[in-house]
Amino acid sequence: MKSVFVVGAGPAGMFAARKVALAGYDAFLFNRDIKPGGLAEYGIYPLKDKMKFGLRKQFAQVLDLPKVHYFGNIRIGNGYDLAIADLEAMRPAAILFTSGAQGAHNLGLPGETAKGVYAAKDFVYHYNQLPPYASQDFSTGRRIAIIGIGNVAIDIARWLLQDSPSRATEEVVIIARRGPFEIKFDKKEIGYVGRHIERDAMIAELDRIKDRCANCNQDVSAQNVFAGYFPMLNEEDFTSIPPRLSFRFLASPTAVFAGPDGRIEKLEVAENDLVLRPDGSTKAVLTDQKTLLDIDTLIFAIGDKHDEKLGLPMGPDGYATLADPGHPNDPVFEVWDPANSCPLPGRFVAGWARRASTGLVGIARHDGELGAQKTIDYVQDLPDTNTMTEPEILALLRRKGLHPVTKFDLALLGAIEQKQAALRKLNYFKYSDNESMFRAIAEAKKQAARSGEEIRLQPIS
Ligand SMILES: Cc1cc2nc3c(=O)[nH]c(=O)nc-3n(C[C@H](O)[C@H](O)[C@H](O)COP(=O)(O)OP(=O)(O)OC[C@H]3O[C@@H](n4cnc5c(N)ncnc54)[C@H](O)[C@@H]3O)c2cc1C
Repeated sequence: MKSVFVVGAGPAGMFAARKVALAGYDAFLFNRDIKPGGLAEYGIYPLKDKMKFGLRKQFAQVLDLPKVHYFGNIRIGNGYDLAIADLEAMRPAAILFTSGAQGAHNLGLPGETAKGVYAAKDFVYHYNQLPPYASQDFSTGRRIAIIGIGNVAIDIARWLLQDSPSRATEEVVIIARRGPFEIKFDKKEIGYVGRHIERDAMIAELDRIKDRCANCNQDVSAQNVFAGYFPMLNEEDFTSIPPRLSFRFLASPTAVFAGPDGRIEKLEVAENDLVLRPDGSTKAVLTDQKTLLDIDTLIFAIGDKHDEKLGLPMGPDGYATLADPGHPNDPVFEVWDPANSCPLPGRFVAGWARRASTGLVGIARHDGELGAQKTIDYVQDLPDTNTMTEPEILALLRRKGLHPVTKFDLALLGAIEQKQAALRKLNYFKYSDNESMFRAIAEAKKQAARSGEEIRLQPIS
């Protein structure tokens, strides 16, 4: 038997496993979380029900394929449950890494380890109920600063302005290094929160930065900026509602100051000048003009980075790959070994594990499928590697004291969560800690044994 191991079960991993299985090979998914889905389950905004339900259904269909095997609650990496060498000892024909980008960029500011300072991904994991983040302290206060101006920043602002059950928000301020022309969020996303912006405050902010932007030939008049990025502010009957959403452009945080309780109390920001590069792009250049803002919660939404502990060689942009100089823009899925200047045979990366923070679910899916095809092409020419079977792998994991979750367990969990949702009159219910999930699975198994009922593998819906 020659099988492919897929590390990670987000959109890239799930659709890669499907492709591998449909090509006739067994795909073994090893996933850190009990449930599949990655950021599709634990990142996408909780109220985007239609998208989440649709994706869950597609993931369930993948798990339903007989050639797809699933080991949830198994984290791969040095110092985690299994090292890559442990996977290799199970004799896979190839390993495709789709473990996303689990680290987060910060700015290395003095004081940024204060309480109340969070990385965006951890924060969204928390409100999307991913264990263990779900039960950790991500408390927010009244004045929250978000660093970054992409869709993730807007999602978080939306949560803090409208949906967090524990919100005490009076103002969310989005801090951007450069000007409004470098905004990265989509019109659709800002549409969810636009009514929290005060038009006059936005006009004043644009006025404050207009000369610096004009140095780069940017006309940041309200007319231009509203038309391009904030169309709601052009509507005649626009009225703003609290809590307030404000923007501070051309500003870079330089220090965090904590109060006596250790929680962030002030954020120091420096004004930036905007400079035109020869290629026409703009660069923010720090000035020594600084302001202290009253801030009790700070969230970095400036992108993710790869987890070095996974154990793959690292390059300048994360896990190492080497572009073909003749086709520098073509995606490269083979992991590169810089120490020996050659590809690592049979090791591939796809999705956000290939390029961190890049694109929506559809892009991650496509990337996973392309990576799977590369992996299949590689495996086709190999002799049989005699990969261990699912029961052998399960037994080995249990001997190591690990608690793998199979797709059979997931089906039981899905059924129990559906019952809970019905009892609580909710559209959807999910447990937010591993212990409750394990208890629910064990209870479902006991019940089935008592009733003598055959447990049928059903996709979670
Ligand atoms: C806040 C936020 C909101 C988003 N909203 C949208 C949206 O509205 N619409 C949209 O289309 N896209 C959205 N996206 C983007 C989308 O979520 C990603 O494009 C997609 O999930 C990336 O897929 P992936 O499989 O590459 O990585 P991920 O989804 O990150 O999956 C990684 C998988 O690897 C597993 N893993 C991690 N480390 C290990 C390890 N060491 N060992 C084993 N397993 C591991 C994880 O458990 C997870 O299953 C959003 C992203 C974020 C951050």
